[in-house]
Amino acid sequence: PATLGMLGGGQLGRFFVAAAHEMGYKIWVLDPDPNSPAGLIADRHLQAAYDDYAALDVLAEGCAAVTTEFENVPADTLDYLAKFVPVRPGASAVAVCQNRIAEKSFLRDNGLPHGPFAVINVDADIAAAPASLYPAILKVARFGYDGKGQARVANAAEALHAFHAFKGEPCVLEQMLSLDYEVSVVLARDENGRVKCFPTVENRHTNGILDVSIAPARASACQRDAAQEYAERIAERLGFIGTLAVEFFVSRGELVVNEMAPRPHNSGHHTIDACVTSQYEQQVRALCGLPLGEARQHSASVMVNLLGELWYDGGEPHGRYREPDWSLLHAVPGLRLHLYAKHHARHGRKMGHFTVIGSDADDVLAKALAARQAIGIRGD
Ligand code: ATP
Ligand code: MG
Ligand code: MG
Repeated sequence: PATLGMLGGGQLGRFFVAAAHEMGYKIWVLDPDPNSPAGLIADRHLQAAYDDYAALDVLAEGCAAVTTEFENVPADTLDYLAKFVPVRPGASAVAVCQNRIAEKSFLRDNGLPHGPFAVINVDADIAAAPASLYPAILKVARFGYDGKGQARVANAAEALHAFHAFKGEPCVLEQMLSLDYEVSVVLARDENGRVKCFPTVENRHTNGILDVSIAPARASACQRDAAQEYAERIAERLGFIGTLAVEFFVSRGELVVNEMAPRPHNSGHHTIDACVTSQYEQQVRALCGLPLGEARQHSASVMVNLLGELWYDGGEPHGRYREPDWSLLHAVPGLRLHLYAKHHARHGRKMGHFTVIGSDADDVLAKALAARQAIGIRGD
């Protein structure tokens, strides 16, 4: 069977490996972590840095095509691999999504809705930023995720302080928007430009980390459609091939693009259980030049993230991490638990998720929130 390459070994990669295995492919994973969730189930785990060219040569030689689950893979790595083997998505599309300055500029240049922002490269950029941006969020341009590399700032003095705390790394300063709620769109685009869009999802965040995703979103139908149209336009303008996610804010009734991820997305996990084709199967299909699958959602669904806190017993003086009682979840009809086989629990670390599916959206949400409470995750 053909062998496919995956850059990155996190849970998104692990679900890709599982989908690809079911479809008859072998997978080689490149990730420096010896215990990476995807590496553990891959046919071969190349344990090396993303810029280890000897390892990249091995990957390029052994694989028919290469994709990524880790948005911070160096663009040079993708460019290098592309000399030998198809790489999807390509380096230029990934480069836009992995740098907030490039991303915001892309949105602006393509007439896509985005919030007010300023690019901050040096102290003077903060002095020059309009006062109307405050209160604001300073975000490092690269390598942020789950709300890391972000600081909420009330004024220019605080922004300057935060900029120095980020060691003068290039940043964007974003106006803090008042959020009605957040939604996202996951889609797949093939090499011929055909797109299959999953229904728009509603996302609830806690402390900057995705907490609960409700699909389809309870937004008005026209807003759901508008989000899909914006996401399709973004995919097309990026020349994107693969699975792409676009996060949106709904602020005072208006859709605003927050950011893009050039890979499957946490808010698309439910597609495994609630859609005809999962976002991971679509990634395999786009990578291999196969026709994309049907993206229809056959059941209402709610996905709940399981963070490291849940493992923490909070005991004094030094609490311990231990496994929660999963049987409480297995007892809920329509609920499916997905654990990522991460070796160490940590606060804020995504350890797994569960999805509840059913025919009635309100019923599914109530069930999911009750299950969440039963295993000790406080309600919001
Ligand atoms: P991830 O990649 O894990 O989604 P991230 O670290 O890239 O997260 P963002 O998506 O930029 O972070 O922000 C995380 C969350 O913080 C958002 O989903 C939103 O809840 C809140 N947030 C971020 N920017 C703003 C803003 N300009 N106004 C209001 N809320 C914001
Ligand atoms: Mg992000
Ligand atoms: Mg985000």
